[in-house]
Amino acid sequence: MQYKYNIITFGCQMNKNDSERMESVLCNMGLEKVGTPEEADVIIMNSCSVRDSAEDRIFGGARNFAKLKKNKPNLIVAVTGCMPGRDKDKKLFKKLQKVDLYFPTADMVKLPDMLCKLNPDFRKINLASTNLLSTDDKLVLGLDSEYLKITPKYKNDFQAFIPIQTGCDHFCTYCAVPYARGREKNRPLQDILEEIKKLAKNGCKEITLLGEIVNHYVALDPEFFSKENKYSKNDFAKLLWEVNQVEGIERIHWTGPHPIYMDDEVIDALTLPKQINFLHLPVQSGSTEVLRKMNRKHDREFFIDLIKKIKAKKPGISIGTDIIVGFCGESLKEFQDTVDMYKECDFDISYPAKYSTRSGTVADKAFKDDVSIEEKKRRWFVLQDLMKEITYKKNQKFIGKTASVLVERYKDGICAGNSSEMRLTHFSGDKSLVGKIVEVKIKKADTWLLEGDMV
Ligand code: SF4
Repeated sequence: MQYKYNIITFGCQMNKNDSERMESVLCNMGLEKVGTPEEADVIIMNSCSVRDSAEDRIFGGARNFAKLKKNKPNLIVAVTGCMPGRDKDKKLFKKLQKVDLYFPTADMVKLPDMLCKLNPDFRKINLASTNLLSTDDKLVLGLDSEYLKITPKYKNDFQAFIPIQTGCDHFCTYCAVPYARGREKNRPLQDILEEIKKLAKNGCKEITLLGEIVNHYVALDPEFFSKENKYSKNDFAKLLWEVNQVEGIERIHWTGPHPIYMDDEVIDALTLPKQINFLHLPVQSGSTEVLRKMNRKHDREFFIDLIKKIKAKKPGISIGTDIIVGFCGESLKEFQDTVDMYKECDFDISYPAKYSTRSGTVADKAFKDDVSIEEKKRRWFVLQDLMKEITYKKNQKFIGKTASVLVERYKDGICAGNSSEMRLTHFSGDKSLVGKIVEVKIKKADTWLLEGDMV
């Protein structure tokens, strides 16, 4: 019998990359990927804990899949990702209906064992004896970061996510990541570079380096940095330089940095030739008092100066950010500080989020979630409207200019992909352009779309 799986991924790019690794494991067990949960024998929800709404979707999914079990009693429903990671006392698990497996991300190395226990018909594999692992080392599976040694089933040949670290030590007071993913662990430099070189040989053009604080990367094996490396202090800047040397890689993207580690070397690395013309730099609030309560370790002025410094070093760079509205005790004046800062920094894009308490965090224990839901919504719309206005105006400036676009998709005569400034761009073309970087002269610009003709 051909068993089938379906993975549903919520949340960030790190989760997407983790799902790619799980896909590898399941394919090696002989399972076939299907497009809908209804067709699957194994359904895995890779959860996100960033907000209540993200966890609500897991509860809803579990309820729906429990109904499928009536007609398919052997159906296995699993939940992994941030939710089991942070749910040490299993309070959330108790609210989930009929979930068979509930495991933190790093435990995906045990997935073959766990599945075979539930259904002995599954093909049991030992990951260390397959070609799934990216190095030949003798591995003691089960250690937290070793799941990163599983070679992912990449979403396509020309783009790949490369995690360089997991976890975080910063404990911003609102954030569940340090509880869900544990303390910061950096991946060996040699593993990272080997993975990228192998990808480049197979035609990969764009890589996205991932970490909770990518620019806090510390190489465990610095001896693998080249002697010619342009940088000497910051390991992340050094890593960017190394990746720039990899033949075949044409675009480098990274997410997410922390403002306090944007030192001179990292800012300089934004000018390396393969670096895309975009930086996502989360600020969360424009109020010094709110930033202090969030434990962000910098104030409003520091951030505004940093943006000025970055723009001076790399004029024309597009900058995006994350903002939380309605954090505990955020006053109207403090929210206005965020609005004013937004205008001053002139962000190209932002991802505003309405604050919601994450159980177990410092904010949950120490502060009151006292901004009403209606007021949070109002503030969210203020920022959203401001973003749309600024983004639309900024996009108009692309008209008549040429954008460098990596073509990701083709449908009905239209090619689509992101420009180096991370603007979705459409132009007429053919299927053979998918995976190629082309120059597009922009003739029309909307808030979320640039349109043009291939040069
Ligand atoms: S830096 Fe703060 S927001 Fe980012 S993952 Fe760490 S604790 Fe969470």
